[in-house]
Amino acid sequence: MSSFESLNLAPALVRATADLGWAKPTPIQLDAVPPARDGRDVLACAQTGSGKTGGFLLPVLHRLLASNKKATRALILTPTRELAAQVHADFVALAKHTTLRGAAIFGGVGMGPQESAFRHKVDVIIATPGRLLDHLSQPGKYVDFSALEILVLDEADRMLDMGFLPAIKQVLRQIPAQRQTLFFSATLPAPIVELSKQMLKDPARLNVERVAKPAAGIEQAVWPVKEALKPDLFLALLKANVIGNVICFTRTKHRTNRLAEILTKAGVPNARIHGNRSQAQRTEALASFKDGKIRVLVATDIVARGIDVEALEHVLNFDVPHMPEDYIHRVGRTARAEATGEAFTLVSPEEETDLKQIEKAIHKKLPRRTLEGFNYNHVPVERFEVPLADRIAAIRARKKEERERAKAKLERKAQQPAQGRKTEDGRSASRSQPSRSGGQPTGGSTSAAPGGAKKRRRRRGGSGRGPYSGS
Ligand code: AMP
Repeated sequence: MSSFESLNLAPALVRATADLGWAKPTPIQLDAVPPARDGRDVLACAQTGSGKTGGFLLPVLHRLLASNKKATRALILTPTRELAAQVHADFVALAKHTTLRGAAIFGGVGMGPQESAFRHKVDVIIATPGRLLDHLSQPGKYVDFSALEILVLDEADRMLDMGFLPAIKQVLRQIPAQRQTLFFSATLPAPIVELSKQMLKDPARLNVERVAKPAAGIEQAVWPVKEALKPDLFLALLKANVIGNVICFTRTKHRTNRLAEILTKAGVPNARIHGNRSQAQRTEALASFKDGKIRVLVATDIVARGIDVEALEHVLNFDVPHMPEDYIHRVGRTARAEATGEAFTLVSPEEETDLKQIEKAIHKKLPRRTLEGFNYNHVPVERFEVPLADRIAAIRARKKEERERAKAKLERKAQQPAQGRKTEDGRSASRSQPSRSGGQPTGGSTSAAPGGAKKRRRRRGGSGRGPYSGS
């Protein structure tokens, strides 16, 4: 009974699911498609990995296919650029045998092509709230939602976590009140329930009573280790092939950068994604991971939700997430839709309390593992995380040293008799000879200056001090 054919979807969509190799609907698809296909509002509690994207895209596309209008008729809001791109890719795959068109609208890339998608009135817009508001406030007023029939909120809890509530409310003011709304969230904390009440009319409620937990096929384990030895243990797990290709989550951008640096030094192909990386860098990192060009993708939890990487063997929490929900989302990167995977967490003694919260939330004590042959008591060669104050102090010390070196050099030169003194490239420099930089005569302490501009600056100042003085 549980086939895509039995869901009464347009044949073009059923064909697309077959092309994708989806043998049968996942539970959330079985639950969400019928009410959504029939035009009802839906409130669904669904994690990434459950097949939720198909759960809302299939009925949305089915409804759009029922009539033929040249207008933007569905809007899907997602929290991150990566998720918007992912949903768009799923849209393209599922709409493949139709003439429906969609566009992904997110920040970090040019506005022009996105404006053009609005002007062409593509059927489906998949957008992050921030960039959508940017377009809505443009002087040309080219965004036309007057014919909008369906609104989807994907990962609503994440959008609220990211502070998008005001943006969502602003968008709601600019779309028709008379519409169908599909509301998907991994968790249902009070503010989400409140928002869903404001947005939904008599919704079909799916899974809302269930406690969020990672997909069933995931093997989870923790690896206790001292904080300072985490990088070494990670490298040892990679070397022993206990871990294959892996998305590795760290707590901060700095830790992401440091870990990537250490992996590179150890010869492990890797890439990194975090909030300071440009869209092009993020896309490239994800693509090379998906293509198998790199073994490790190091990331802050910006990519924890919504990113689908096929056949992902491992997720590694290099740091224990503070929130149990984040753990569930990170772990949800593996074992998507019935596949199996492993999710490991490195846990330092200081993180045991956070780990206990996670174990409480998932109603499970996670098994503890140790790596045979790994020396859990050695002293690491390199410090992993240099505290910010130390990093600033190191930069200051280096600058001071550079200044002192430059000053000493200038003083040395000033003490040498001009005749017979050598320039930096070893040629003789006398007062009467033109310098290499623009024919200006060299003189006094300026002969060691790296460029003509600096020479001129110092000549005006006349102090004979180096260019770094006082800086
Ligand atoms: P999602 O939870 O929407 O991010 O989907 C997770 C993964 O499951 C994606 O790789 C989908 O392509 C895949 N998927 C979705 N629906 C099905 C299905 N019915 N059968 C097999 N795989 C599916």
